Amino acid sequence: MKAPDIRMPLPGPKAQAIIARDKARLSPSYTRDYPFVMAKGEGAVVEDVDGNLFLDCAAGIAVTGTGHSHPDVVTAIVDQAHKYLHMSGTDFYYEPQVQLAEELAKQAPIDGGSGNVRSFFSNSGTEANEAAIKLARYYTKRFNLIAFLGSFHGRSLGSLALTSSKYVQRKGFGPMMPGVFHAPYANCYRCPVGAKPESCESECLAFLEDQILVHLVSPDEVAAVVVEPIQGEGGYVVPPAAFHQRLRELTRTHGMLLVADEVQSGMGRTGRMFACEHFGLDADIVTMAKGIASGLPLGVTSARADVMTWPPGAHASTFGGNPVSCAAALATIKVLRDGLVRNAEVVGEHLIDRLRALMDKHPIIGDVRGKGLMIGVELVRDRQTKERATTERDRVVQEMFKRGVLILGAGRNAIRFAPPLVLTREQAGAIVDAFDAVLAGITGKH
Ligand code: PLP
Repeated sequence: MKAPDIRMPLPGPKAQAIIARDKARLSPSYTRDYPFVMAKGEGAVVEDVDGNLFLDCAAGIAVTGTGHSHPDVVTAIVDQAHKYLHMSGTDFYYEPQVQLAEELAKQAPIDGGSGNVRSFFSNSGTEANEAAIKLARYYTKRFNLIAFLGSFHGRSLGSLALTSSKYVQRKGFGPMMPGVFHAPYANCYRCPVGAKPESCESECLAFLEDQILVHLVSPDEVAAVVVEPIQGEGGYVVPPAAFHQRLRELTRTHGMLLVADEVQSGMGRTGRMFACEHFGLDADIVTMAKGIASGLPLGVTSARADVMTWPPGAHASTFGGNPVSCAAALATIKVLRDGLVRNAEVVGEHLIDRLRALMDKHPIIGDVRGKGLMIGVELVRDRQTKERATTERDRVVQEMFKRGVLILGAGRNAIRFAPPLVLTREQAGAIVDAFDAVLAGITGKH
């Protein structure tokens, strides 16, 4: 399928009819930025119900890393579905779960790659983080948690207390789970403490060390620090390695666990299997979901084996680690390892170079950052003041859709480039060309 190929004003008639039914009967809490109605997909190309072809630069929010309906993943799903669909991993044994846990023990950035890892399976990112919260509390016998401003860890009530991305996600749902303290994240483009990147020694962590852990909570009562190695929903923010290193030292000093939320950044997206690898970050607990099973629901909480010692009955989920999802995950990991992690690195470098080159032409681009195919472009009205180009960002997302590119925002004024990891250089080029044209249209600078 060759995309983009838009044959009619969007949305087309079939799309309009489905959207009208959706609006009548589905929860209005879904965001739905533009009227794309999926019919089918292959690789990084998707087709809507009216036959228009789009390049997918969102991958279902960083989920379909292996591309849409990768044949190896589909075969694994079908094979497993013919054998059995469900057998409650809570009560019975089955091999796909064991194989996946063994695979993750080899790869997860835990305990220096010793393989000394156990995994708990659930169905989503939020559940993976719920398990991490409970496990950290259970193991340390402490109940406080540290998270970061701008972070996203999920929407169920435990993980929501960690989430601090947008207030709409919290508004009306309080009070939040107690015992959570938020520290500034290392956003070097908008340094929360006004430090200069050239001389920075991760001063942003001073707020945690000198304020939160002095005035608000005793370090020996903190169970864990929960951190995204690269902040996702917060705007695809890449911190310096020193931030993670100092955080790791701090947690070790005070006997806190370090939970790396790799739900969005994991599974090859950044050109490494886990984003932690870019920073030499060794975690005690790692959470995964999104890209792990190419679109089937699966959440994973992997931990140091000596940390995951809760007794039978302490935590479980009926559907968690469903055999079909586990089979999809095993096939996904193989496809990632056999070339897609590397493709994410190589095509990601090309994409980021091309996006950076656009900065000469478009002053609205304030910052281009990222690793692999997890790239954020922050739009500003003025490069000096860094005033956020929020409405312009929303327009860019809409206009990209009209040009046949599915893309999403992240944070208040960034665009996220998170395509399937099968993206080719040519497809990356087509995305940049569309972005260039859209920015020119919006700012009037041709
Ligand atoms: N953690 C991170 C870093 C995420 O980006 C997300 C979702 O965007 C979640 C957790 C929650 O995942 P889910 O929507 O599967 O519950």
